[in-house]
Amino acid sequence: MNKPLLSLALMPALSVALAAHASERVDLLVRDATVVDIVSGTLQPHRSIAVRDGRILAVLDAKGARGYDAARVLDAKGTFAIPGLWDMHVHFGGGEALIEENKDLLPLYVAHGITAVRDAAGDLSPSVFEWRDAVADGKLLGPRIFTSGPKVEGYKSIWPGDLEIGTTAELDAALDQLQGWKVDFVKITDNTLSPELFMAAVKQADRRGLKTSAHVPYALTLEEVSAAGLDSIEHLDYAFKAGSPLEKSLGERIAKSEITSRDAWTQWNATFDPARAMAAYRNLARHGTAITPTINGSHVVTYLDQDDHHDDPYLKYIGPGLQATYTWRVERAAKDDAAAVVNRHERFEKSATVLPMLQEAGVTILAGTDAGFLNSYNYPGIGLHDELGWLVHYGLTPSQALQAATINGARFLGHDDEYGALQAGRVADIVLLDADPLRDIAATRKIHAVVLRGDVHDRANLDAMLADVARRVARQREAAAKTGP
Ligand SMILES: [Zn+2]
Repeated sequence: MNKPLLSLALMPALSVALAAHASERVDLLVRDATVVDIVSGTLQPHRSIAVRDGRILAVLDAKGARGYDAARVLDAKGTFAIPGLWDMHVHFGGGEALIEENKDLLPLYVAHGITAVRDAAGDLSPSVFEWRDAVADGKLLGPRIFTSGPKVEGYKSIWPGDLEIGTTAELDAALDQLQGWKVDFVKITDNTLSPELFMAAVKQADRRGLKTSAHVPYALTLEEVSAAGLDSIEHLDYAFKAGSPLEKSLGERIAKSEITSRDAWTQWNATFDPARAMAAYRNLARHGTAITPTINGSHVVTYLDQDDHHDDPYLKYIGPGLQATYTWRVERAAKDDAAAVVNRHERFEKSATVLPMLQEAGVTILAGTDAGFLNSYNYPGIGLHDELGWLVHYGLTPSQALQAATINGARFLGHDDEYGALQAGRVADIVLLDADPLRDIAATRKIHAVVLRGDVHDRANLDAMLADVARRVARQREAAAKTGP
C-alpha cells in the first residue's frame, strides 16, 4: 500500500533534479582538464569546470559534464588546471611620469597567469586605488589589486610617497587616512621610524582590524613583532637572525650604528642554532605571522656580478622609465669589492636555508616577487614563476610552492572563501598549463589559457596581450629618445 505513494512522492523531486542537470545553462565549460589539488598535491584527471557569472558552479566528472549546456566550451584535454596565481609582493611607482608604464604592467600580470597582486606600497597610490576599483568593476583588464596605499615611515625616509610620522597622534591620523582610502592592509617600514612607533603602529592597526606587513627594525626581535600582532614579514633575512642568541644584542648595536649589518650578520651566522631558529619559527606560526621570502629579488641583486641582465629579452615589456629606476641597486651592488661580493652570496644562500624550516614550523609562506620600480630585473609577471622556481629550489615541494602562490595569499587577505581553489562557489580564476606543475614547477610557465573571473584568454589572446605591451614600450622608448639629452 505504501509503495506507490512513496514513489509518487519521490517522483517530482527526482524529475526536478534530472531536469536541472539536463538543461543547466552555463557561460563556460572548461572541458576535460586534469585538476591539480594544490593542498593534497594530487591530480584529478578528466574534470570539467562549469562557470556562470564569473564563478565556478561545479567541478564535474565526464558524466556530470554532459548535463551542462555551455555558451562556450574550452577544450582543456591534456592541460593541468590550477587556481589563478597571486603575487603577494609587488610595487607600482617611480613618480607621476611613470603612471602609464605602471598601468601597462597589469596585462603583463594577466598574461602570466597572475589573477591577483598585493601592492606593498609605492608613490602612485591614487592611481593604484583607481586601477583597483576599475579592475573590480570590470572596466580595466588586470589582476585583482590589493593595496597598502602609502606605507607608514618616520620623517625623511629614503622611500618616496610614504606617510611620515613622528608621534602617536600622527600615527592615528595616518591610520585614519589609510582607512579612509579603504586600504587592504598597512605596510610599515623601518628606515627612519623608531622601534617604539613601529610597535605602536602594529598594535594600533591590529586594534583597528587592519592587517599589517613590515620590514622589521633591527632593534626588535622576530618574537617581539610577531607577539605584537604583525601579520606578515617581508623578506627572508629577518628570519635568519632569529636563529642566533645574538639577535637582540647585535640588532641594538646596528640601530646605534656601533656595528655594520654585515659584521652583525657574520656573527649571527657563526652563532646560528637550528634548534633556536625552529623554536622561533614555531612561535611565528603560533602568532599567525606569515612571511614573504621574495627570493627572486634578492637573488637578482646578489648575483649581479654573474648576470647583469642587460640583455634579458623580457626587457621589451618594461618601460624605459621603470628600467631607469633599476640603476640604483645596480650601482650600489657594483661598489662591492671582491670580499663584499663573497659575503653577499653567502648571506643570501645562508638566509635561504631557513625556508624549509619555516615551512616545517608551520609558518604561512606567501609567494611574492618584490617586482616593480627600483627592484632591478625582478620582473612583473614572469618574476612570480622565477619565485616559484626558487621556492622549490630552496626546499619547498611543488605543491607547497603552489599553495604559497594561491590559497595562502587569499587566506592572508581574508578571501579564501572566494579564491585559491577550484571549487564550486569560488571566483573562476583558472590557469591551464600544458604540463604537470607537481612534477616540475617550471610547468607554471607553460600557460595554455587563463580564465580571469570567467573570461577566457587563450594562448593567442595572451600572446596578443604581450605583443601589445611590447609595442607600447617600444613607443615609450622612441619618445624617451626624442626628448632625451
Ligand atoms: Zn618591496
